[in-house]
Amino acid sequence: MRILELIPPIKDYIWGGTKLRECFGKESKLEKLAESWELSCHKDGASVIANGEYKGRTLNEFLSENPDACGTACSKFEYFPILIKLIDARDNLSVQVHPDNDYAQRVEGEYGKTEMWYIVDCEKDAELIYGFKSEISKQEFKDAIENNTLLEKVSRVPVKKGDVFFINSGTLHAIGKGILIAEIQQNSNTTYRVYDYGRVGADGKPRELHIQKALDVTELKPAENYSVSEAIETADKRSQLLAECEYFKVVKEDINGSSELYANEKSFNHILLIDGEAVLKCGDEKLNLKKGSSVFVAANTGKYIIKGNCSIIITEI
Ligand code: ZN
Repeated sequence: MRILELIPPIKDYIWGGTKLRECFGKESKLEKLAESWELSCHKDGASVIANGEYKGRTLNEFLSENPDACGTACSKFEYFPILIKLIDARDNLSVQVHPDNDYAQRVEGEYGKTEMWYIVDCEKDAELIYGFKSEISKQEFKDAIENNTLLEKVSRVPVKKGDVFFINSGTLHAIGKGILIAEIQQNSNTTYRVYDYGRVGADGKPRELHIQKALDVTELKPAENYSVSEAIETADKRSQLLAECEYFKVVKEDINGSSELYANEKSFNHILLIDGEAVLKCGDEKLNLKKGSSVFVAANTGKYIIKGNCSIIITEI
């Protein structure tokens, strides 16, 4: 079995909306669907397989019985290296930062986090926070957190559908309200929160801030400009490399017709369908894909074909 359709765990964080249910067909008893973890082997929630002989079991179980399905590029990592999410921010997310590998492994016992955002959809005038306006000292950063003036120091960036942001570990950031993103990230849940808009959690208390750790790891300067490479267009599709780093490679394809893809021995492929409909065919295996579908294609599967009118995000290691 080479093609696994995945069902995500859902997280109902306080800032979440309902678009993942309404527009992406995600099912959950929870009221708010803040995040769906579309490719996850994380201890806080793992993908469950929806088809075939592994139906109802987790992706972790499949991979422990079929270790080659990850691919040779994964073997340098101690555990499954990435996590892919859809995130629906009805409200602003907290202003936060993630540590790099060295710091996170020393202090938290898990990987740090570098992440990439693809803006799947957003409301007019939506914006996010990405680094500082200008260089700032550690003391100024600390004072701004304590005096509630941090929002004056950060860089706010207006966004539109299709924008891409690369967030290196150490970059201060926040997703703003009215944004729906696909997030590809290192497999880590370590977040240091520095500002939470004065909100309280489900228990009526303010959510914890992690000021000292954030002071340790935050880059005290503007984020570097990021631009994606030129798209390549053929009769059937438009293909664009969105990001490539030591943890993941992410390509977006807009398909109108058929796209021949390939999973080699180095890495699995993960397909997230963000618009339209398609059929995925691989030998005698076949899956119907709709908006929100998430598929794990095992390493060494070789050629497979996606046919339809759709936009997909393909991630590999
Ligand atoms: Zn983050």
